[in-house]
Amino acid sequence: MDLKDTLRPEILEFTPYSPGLSIDEIKERYKLASVIKLASNENPLGASPLVQRVLARKAEVVFRYPQSGNPRLVQAIADYHGVPAACVVPGNGSDEIIDLLLRVKARPGIDNVVAFDPCFSIYRLQAKLCGVEIRQAKLSDDFRFPFDDMLALCDDNTSLVFVTNPDNPSGHAVKAAELAMLAKALPPRALLVVDEAYVEFAEPEDEYSVMGRLESLPNVAVLRTFSKLYGLAGLRLGFGVLPRWLADLVMRVRLPFSVNLLAEAAGMAALEDLHFREATLGTVRKGRAWLTEELTRLKCDVRPSQANFLLFTPPMDAKALFEALLAKGIIIRPLASYGLPASLRVSIGSEPENRAFINALEEVLRAHG
Ligand code: PMP
Repeated sequence: MDLKDTLRPEILEFTPYSPGLSIDEIKERYKLASVIKLASNENPLGASPLVQRVLARKAEVVFRYPQSGNPRLVQAIADYHGVPAACVVPGNGSDEIIDLLLRVKARPGIDNVVAFDPCFSIYRLQAKLCGVEIRQAKLSDDFRFPFDDMLALCDDNTSLVFVTNPDNPSGHAVKAAELAMLAKALPPRALLVVDEAYVEFAEPEDEYSVMGRLESLPNVAVLRTFSKLYGLAGLRLGFGVLPRWLADLVMRVRLPFSVNLLAEAAGMAALEDLHFREATLGTVRKGRAWLTEELTRLKCDVRPSQANFLLFTPPMDAKALFEALLAKGIIIRPLASYGLPASLRVSIGSEPENRAFINALEEVLRAHG
């Protein structure tokens, strides 16, 4: 008997997450000395100097395990956001929280989860892996959220409803009041999971984030990440603010050390580095406005974005444009895996990176006629 044949089809047929290309891959492929990556919505200013100092100091204690459950980090996050520490679950990126929510809350073979199409692929991939049906409501052509279509897919076995706000890859966002209305209309077992990976970049953040309203929304959870505004993508740190009963259960089943010692220290330092966050916000908001103008000037159709990236449809084949930019050392994100083969996503970079991207784009479009 072939042992492999005894595995679940979910495992044998699993399609892994497709990440953006790495800088080293492109340097090697095109023999380039420098490459600009605007493909994964990382921080345009790099890593906070305060975080770097803390990491250097912490290096000598990496032989120790972190404190199980990361209580100091949990308290720091709770204080910062004005939520009860008992509701905060830190994870190895918010990816881990998505996975844990599916495994804890959704019953394989019975329950379903609902999201939009396209959506952040981890919701779909982890649901499949868990043997949980995923139902998807098509976004409208202009990337708005058709909540009525989403509600029509929900039933008594709907366990989780994912909404990314601002959305990836479009940057479209709705005000928190709309999400509160959606939460109130959901069937009784459904938890609305608002993935706010990019919400700090929305203006004004308070009107878009549901974080300040959780007390009055018992069936809502929020996901946040340290990978974007805080510049810690490589350390893997995110968290969920969940209803207290669910946070308790998720903390019990979570692997004890999934948030490592350096991530924990870096997270606490990043919360304190107000200067770095303000500088990042300034760079992203200014760059977003400038890139929107420039892309429009170059006859690209740009979607309005409240995030740290822009979705645009160029006036030529998107794949050919993506490849031509790669050869010039600029990595952006093709969106065929999101079902949007005519469009591309570019992260807001630093001022020089944005300029280099626009210059390269202009050259490619000109050469294309
Ligand atoms: N949600 C969305 C919508 C994202 O775009 C991302 C990052 N690409 C994540 C969650 C995961 O973030 P993390 O790095 O914290 O796992």
